Amino acid sequence: MNERGYLDILYQLKREGYRFALFSDESTGGPCVILRHDIDFSLRDALAIAELDHSIDIRSTFFFLVRSGLYNLLSREACSILDRIGGLGHEIGLHFDASIYSPARAQDVEREKALVRWCAGTCIAIISLHRPPLGIRERNNLVASVGCATTYDDRWVNDMTYVSDSRGEWSGVPKNNKQNIQVLLHPFWWTPTADDRCAKLRSFIVDAARDRRNALVAEVMPSAEDLLSSDQ
Ligand SMILES: [Zn+2]
Repeated sequence: MNERGYLDILYQLKREGYRFALFSDESTGGPCVILRHDIDFSLRDALAIAELDHSIDIRSTFFFLVRSGLYNLLSREACSILDRIGGLGHEIGLHFDASIYSPARAQDVEREKALVRWCAGTCIAIISLHRPPLGIRERNNLVASVGCATTYDDRWVNDMTYVSDSRGEWSGVPKNNKQNIQVLLHPFWWTPTADDRCAKLRSFIVDAARDRRNALVAEVMPSAEDLLSSDQ
């Protein structure tokens, strides 16, 4: 799984006559693909894939976590990335992790939605759930109570073919599929740092250490650079 493989999937779908649509688009007939990106790992990978989609005239939908331990959606860099992704014509939604709450309530979803809206500067009309821990009825009731569509609505799951690259594994789009398709791809697995999952995870951890060091020097303690260098 790499950038070449990612583009091959999209080109294949285009060759088969699929039109790419957003969750918010009205149906205009003909087979369509709704391309969805859940951002579980890295904002920079999200931006790389947003640029790639844009370069081949595809608009897609990016879902962001608010309370991730892996990235800070409120950071200066994050807001600039969300601004850029929105500026490329992509849709932005909330990726809600209900497991943080016990149990999750409508006001929790509403608060996170407001934070994504604040970061992205755009209305949030759709939610995807991170590793859904809830029953189908429970989760649908939760998101319905905040007046927002979810990627699990019947029209996007039961009425469509659904394929994803969960856990970094991709089995492909079914051939001769006559239905509309929702394709969930996690940008992290497709950006061109490494082909195999283990190497990708290792480089993700190394990059995070470098980012932490840079932030420490830039935002808190400029003298840390000299201190750390003298200790090596
Ligand atoms: Zn997720």
